[in-house]
Amino acid sequence: MQAQPFVSIVIPAYNEAASIRHTISEIAQVLNSHCHFEILLVDDGSKDATALVAHQLVQEVDCLIYLRLSRNFGKEAAISAGLHRAKGDAVMIVDADGQHPPELLLTFMRLWQEGYETVYGVQEQRQENHLIKAAKKIYYQLMSRFSSVDIPANAGDFRLLDRKAVDSLNLITENNRYMKGLYAWVGYRSVAVPFTARKRLAGTSQFSFFKLVKLGMSGLTGFSVIPLRIASILGLLVSALAFILGIQILIEYLFHHQPVPGWPTLAVGMMFFAGIELLALGIIGEYVGNIFEEVKRRPLYLIAEEHSQHQQRQSSGQ
Ligand code: UDP
Ligand code: MG
Repeated sequence: MQAQPFVSIVIPAYNEAASIRHTISEIAQVLNSHCHFEILLVDDGSKDATALVAHQLVQEVDCLIYLRLSRNFGKEAAISAGLHRAKGDAVMIVDADGQHPPELLLTFMRLWQEGYETVYGVQEQRQENHLIKAAKKIYYQLMSRFSSVDIPANAGDFRLLDRKAVDSLNLITENNRYMKGLYAWVGYRSVAVPFTARKRLAGTSQFSFFKLVKLGMSGLTGFSVIPLRIASILGLLVSALAFILGIQILIEYLFHHQPVPGWPTLAVGMMFFAGIELLALGIIGEYVGNIFEEVKRRPLYLIAEEHSQHQQRQSSGQ
């Protein structure tokens, strides 16, 4: 084993001007005597002063590479941009907002050196609104039942990936990028490390309830066809029910000469069927939408600028 491995730190950042300086200096301090490293700060089209602060930081920190995406492509794309550029024997992904305790990076590296190819943080006691918490719980249960791969609950992007896992992830070209699913899909020897997230250094979470729902849907439809099957089974059940009801009405009418009340039965039946049909259509629509996104084959992200001391030295011919 090398005495000093070379690792890459990927930091996705969206409107984190107030946090990146502190986050980067903390990470550098923790890693300094343990390994050689590069830090890839991926600015996901921030609208605040992130670019300004990052330019100053590049002058101060010689292992910092600053990538600015041309607009906000989302965290998953920002992470992918970092993974594509990272050169380390291992890559660690850390949030820019200071919520991920940097000391844990040393634990990640120790486990990696013991032979684990993926070391992922599992968040304990997340302070969240009850609605989001309950929805996440149900979601993870659904995923663990239905998804084609085993996605650990409460594991996020805070993790270490061995070069093999990074290369495997880089082979995946799909646009529907549910990273938690993709990490699980590539497999490799993995181990969980529990941690408690710290408070955000500044600002608020970028993930609103609706953004989470969107991400959740992309996970569900990207890793399972069960919702489609549920739609067909539901359709079948409802048809069977309608058939039985029809027979009953016929019997009442033929043998007991009892006319069944007309419009309420009709109205209820119609509303019920319309609901089921729309549900099934919606589910199919989600998958068609995914196919639509995939066939366009658009790049996952566009890089507007890349900045580092190394690059500056090269362009000035030194
Ligand atoms: N982030 C990003 N692009 C986005 C949204 C978020 O790069 O469109 C970054 C953000 O700057 C942070 C990390 O992803 O470093 C996690 O985001 P956030 O703190 O909002 O999420 P949470 O901690 O609530 O999961
Ligand atoms: Mg956060």
